[in-house]
Amino acid sequence: MTYKITSECISCYLCQPVCPNGAIKLFNNRFWIDPHLCTNCSGSVNTVPQCQASCPTSHGCVQESTDYWESWFTTYNRFITKLRKKQDYWEKWFNFYSQKFSEKLEQRSSAK
Ligand code: SF4
Ligand code: SF4
Repeated sequence: MTYKITSECISCYLCQPVCPNGAIKLFNNRFWIDPHLCTNCSGSVNTVPQCQASCPTSHGCVQESTDYWESWFTTYNRFITKLRKKQDYWEKWFNFYSQKFSEKLEQRSSAK
């Protein structure tokens, strides 16, 4: 299991210079970790993975699971936790949806 960079990455460039193996690459303005170079920082003087330790986001850089379902549930739990924190999320979503729907109805009735 190596580390990977997720969609929560804000491209702050903090992790790239601290990787002891040069495993963090930039392609099309997106960071990614070369799994052939990442050693999880084991065997180096670092006691913790430097990319994760330097990342200012909570899940910008995470250990990749080789198990499909474990990885799926980790992502699922992360999104559910995010949604639970935003208690007004569905209310805002519903208001926005209602507003757009009303606009469409008005456009349709004025076109007749
Ligand atoms: S875990 Fe260590 S070796 Fe792997 S990408 Fe992060 S800093 Fe580099
Ligand atoms: S430190 Fe985190 S947010 Fe910054 S570039 Fe690396 S993965 Fe992205």
